[in-house]
Amino acid sequence: MLKIFDKKEVYLMKAAVFEKFQGKIAVQNVPDPKPNDAGVVVKVLATGLCRSDWHGWMGHDPDIVLPHVPGHELTGIVVAKGKNVKKFSLNDRVTVPFVCGCGTCEQCATNNQQVCDNQSQPGFTHWGSFAEYVALDYADTNLVKLPDEISSITAATLGCRFITSYRAIVAQGMVSEGKTIAVHGCGGVGLLAVMIAHSLGAEVIAIDINTKNLNLAKELGASFTINPLETNVVQEVKEYTRGGVDVSLDALGSAETCFNSIANLKKRGRHVQVGLVTGNHKHPKIPMDLVIANELEIVGSHGMQAHKYPELLAMIQRGELHPEKLINRTVSLQEATQLLPQMNAFEHHGVLVIDSF
Ligand SMILES: [Zn+2]
Ligand SMILES: [Zn+2]
Repeated sequence: MLKIFDKKEVYLMKAAVFEKFQGKIAVQNVPDPKPNDAGVVVKVLATGLCRSDWHGWMGHDPDIVLPHVPGHELTGIVVAKGKNVKKFSLNDRVTVPFVCGCGTCEQCATNNQQVCDNQSQPGFTHWGSFAEYVALDYADTNLVKLPDEISSITAATLGCRFITSYRAIVAQGMVSEGKTIAVHGCGGVGLLAVMIAHSLGAEVIAIDINTKNLNLAKELGASFTINPLETNVVQEVKEYTRGGVDVSLDALGSAETCFNSIANLKKRGRHVQVGLVTGNHKHPKIPMDLVIANELEIVGSHGMQAHKYPELLAMIQRGELHPEKLINRTVSLQEATQLLPQMNAFEHHGVLVIDSF
């Protein structure tokens, strides 16, 4: 039992807690969070399960302090707010991007909250949304009000993979109608990238070693697929496009996908690194000769700012994007405690969302 458990002192909520990395996750009664002056507490309506939560539970994230409550892909209703919150009211239905900005650093001041110098992440830097309530810092900078037409379950799937993909394609990739784009790695982020690029009118080439993922990519709009186990990816892309693609995404984050994604660009093409590179893949080999000779651009992409959501929400409302297509099923908080340790094997089965607590 947790040391902080104290019936006399506070109201208690249900939350999924782990006290040891790779240990048991159990639904416990823990104190309700309180908002700080610039923050809010929301009652969680829906929250997605993500492989990042699994990484956190494994002990891969240095920000996590035990005991811990995971969860960062959430929709909720504002139930308490600090005295400095101006833009949001009680009962507002909201979501947040997984990277929350401080609102005042140099990056936030230039509207780049996605790379805030003092960023917080619910479910990592503090307790997250696998709970009845979650505290969110700097509400005016980070909350996003949701239109009625977008369900809480759908909205819970936006704050992590979806916005990551969206920013990579739209802002960093500058993909538009008529462009050709290659997506290397068709897991969660990659498949979403295919959907988003296709909806913008781009021609999409999907690349993955898993045939099932390639079939999904086709359903989401890819016009050509390549399996690296069967052929030379760079050669195939160049032949199909007669010279290379305008924009290429490494959505997986491996030395091979990063190299191919740069090498398959046409002259003055743009590579977007969106798949996280870790471990041995941290410093992949770059074909720098091609970068110079062909004036290639290499850009990174990391999350998305809260103030960019309205354009994305409008595309969903207009029926141009269908995040709900990636949802597998909804589960209870109790079920999630069993599912989280297996998340690493779940990548290809669609998104799971907790909607009962
Ligand atoms: Zn996530
Ligand atoms: Zn900041």
